[in-house]
Amino acid sequence: MPKVEMANATDVVLKVENLKKFFPVRKGVFSRAKSFLHAVDDISFEIKRGEVLALVGESGCGKTTTGKTLVKLYEPTGGKIKFLDRDVTDLRSDVDKKWFHSKSQMIFQDPFESLNPRKTIFDIVSEPMNIQNKGNLKYREEKTMEILKRVGISPPNAFLWRYPHELSGGQRQRVAIARALVMNPEFVVADEPTSMLDVSIRTQVMKLMMDLISDMNMSFLYITHDFAVARYMSDYISVMYLGKMVEYGKTEEIIQNPLHPYTKALISSVPVPDPEFKRKSIQIKGGIGKAIDPLPRCRFYDRCLLAMDICAKKEPPLLDVGSGHKVACFLYDKKEK
Ligand code: SF4
Repeated sequence: MPKVEMANATDVVLKVENLKKFFPVRKGVFSRAKSFLHAVDDISFEIKRGEVLALVGESGCGKTTTGKTLVKLYEPTGGKIKFLDRDVTDLRSDVDKKWFHSKSQMIFQDPFESLNPRKTIFDIVSEPMNIQNKGNLKYREEKTMEILKRVGISPPNAFLWRYPHELSGGQRQRVAIARALVMNPEFVVADEPTSMLDVSIRTQVMKLMMDLISDMNMSFLYITHDFAVARYMSDYISVMYLGKMVEYGKTEEIIQNPLHPYTKALISSVPVPDPEFKRKSIQIKGGIGKAIDPLPRCRFYDRCLLAMDICAKKEPPLLDVGSGHKVACFLYDKKEK
């Protein structure tokens, strides 16, 4: 686990305040009514240097939209993003965009789709240096071989002129990681980077990322639906549900002492590798919906077996219940209980 103390993390690399990302949706083919999907709705957090924050939740909870908004693949609807003490919420000039993209990168879930099949491994990995006009051809070749070797593509010169289809899934994801890290970024979003890989190589790729995070002292947002992966990879966990952050805290604290009914249900469904151990399964109702024009109430209300009257009347605020462990649930709100 990338312990914060080991990484000597003291400075904030990314600070997110009240971030929102809404998408317009049409209710019917002929409808003019404007509705909005609240994919990310008023979330705040920060990531210090060398820290890994895992964003956890079912698919459709807003994790990927959050990641894409942070690396500016989407423009935010509201809120503020501060990166290395600079406000990058609304980057206008090419110089500012170039600066930001040289220091932030994203690793995507699918290594089969994220690599251009018509480009060689050299073209793919060296592309960020081309975009940034970094060094001459010789420099780019050396840098590409250096990072390929670092991610376990060896010998690198045997792979430079190959195409993605000639590589295995694990090798492709290593190439995608090399491309993301070749410019020594300060902040990386990794969106379920091992979920499409064979189980046998998942752990190897996760271990590789842990080593790289530690060696390069990067800040990581690690998106996953899997608490076991989040526990292995992260210092902090943030649980999302329908665009909202419902729980946040240190990884072991969240795993050992989950508070929100949704977090409890997700953790109770993680298999334990001990046939003797019987964990009590915690039930929730139905499946995840869509936050289209959501009512001002707890987003988890329809699925929560512990719902109270107050939960239908307003949104629970995210409150610190001690030592930085935050939860958005009226069960823990002393004023409302
Ligand atoms: Fe359940 Fe109410 Fe807590 Fe929401 S606020 S999770 S409905 S108890």
